[in-house]
Amino acid sequence: MSSDSSKHIDTVLQHTGTARFDPDTGVAPVNQPPVRASTVRFRDLSALENAYRRKAAGERAITYGRAGMDTHLALESIFNELEGGTHCYLSSSGMASNTLVFMALLSAGDHALVADCVYGPVRELHDAVLSRLGIEITYFSPDADLETLVRPNTRLLYAESPGSLLFQMMDMPALAAFARKHELVLATDNTWGSGYVYRPLELGAHVSVIAGTKYVGGHSDLMLGAVVTRDDEIARRLGGTQYAMGYSVSADDVWLALRGVRTMPIRMAQHAKHAMAVCEWLATRPEVSRIYHPAWPQDPGHALWQRDATGSNGMLAVSLKLSPTAARRFVEALTLFGIGFSWGGFESLVQLVSPKDLATHAYWQEGELAAVRLHIGLEDPRDVIADLEQALRKAAES
Ligand SMILES: *Cc1c(COP(=O)(O)O)cnc(C)c1O
Repeated sequence: MSSDSSKHIDTVLQHTGTARFDPDTGVAPVNQPPVRASTVRFRDLSALENAYRRKAAGERAITYGRAGMDTHLALESIFNELEGGTHCYLSSSGMASNTLVFMALLSAGDHALVADCVYGPVRELHDAVLSRLGIEITYFSPDADLETLVRPNTRLLYAESPGSLLFQMMDMPALAAFARKHELVLATDNTWGSGYVYRPLELGAHVSVIAGTKYVGGHSDLMLGAVVTRDDEIARRLGGTQYAMGYSVSADDVWLALRGVRTMPIRMAQHAKHAMAVCEWLATRPEVSRIYHPAWPQDPGHALWQRDATGSNGMLAVSLKLSPTAARRFVEALTLFGIGFSWGGFESLVQLVSPKDLATHAYWQEGELAAVRLHIGLEDPRDVIADLEQALRKAAES
């Protein structure tokens, strides 16, 4: 089904990428089944030649299973709807999608400005791969004066809003204006908003990246990422690199993402409601020195969030007036929160954020003691709050 901008995205999400009717029987399932394929057959040589012509023209054409079949096409069209894009490239994880952007848009001798609150493994991509290829990166604090950091060889401005770990909002339209002035590509990791509560392409970004592993999948059981743009020239570079580097995603994971994304609107709204209830409770606690959650009115990014986002989610961080040992006791005393990475599934998660990771974030204020990142799941928030309360009690016992 084609895009219809007169309809709300909640409606579009239920009707995009459903299965096509069989031309002989006039029958179809609602959901697109997982179409697994390596080899693709062509009816005749002219069908094959036609597919290659379309591919050479930068269009989405199926020539081999690696590029994905109908299931993949359905999910690509959903990511395009979510982000307001025209081209979508899938990869096997959110991190692979980040990698695709850097590999497609940078060459030896180029320089990129990358937000200091970027998803941590991007720094590993830089250290392990990009630096070997002669690509330089400067990490910037979102409050920094970028004019002092931009160089003649800067090509890419890489943002993430809200940022990883502490959810710092960035001024995307201001970054877009800066990028245009210096002829940079502005790409941003939009896993937090997942194209649903935050739409960077509408705020001026050229490229948006989503880890579909998180809220799109929504059930902690798949890994997949997407890169979306509405710029034909950038799309050509992304598509060429994606193909050349052999990116591919299994049809089963794509199918799980298609299945999950239909309910993303209600899940995200519910996660956001529960996270707000938890923030309200945390704000009454003497152990809490600061809450990091842009929808929370006391968060320094709240005004930007109000201006640029249409909703929130279940992610928050909290700095606690607890010694490192007491913070560990707190985390281990929680019973409803799994200790683990990733987020966006139905369940609550906790992560003790390491001071080493926070040292690279200008947003982290010195003097704060311990940070804990929480993903507030779909459990009843009263049970979640009771769990946090008993864990704080245990943290205080020595
Ligand atoms: C989780 C995450 C990723 C990576 O996604 P994976 O699918 O786990 O590789 C990228 N960016 C952000 C902001 C994330 O939270």
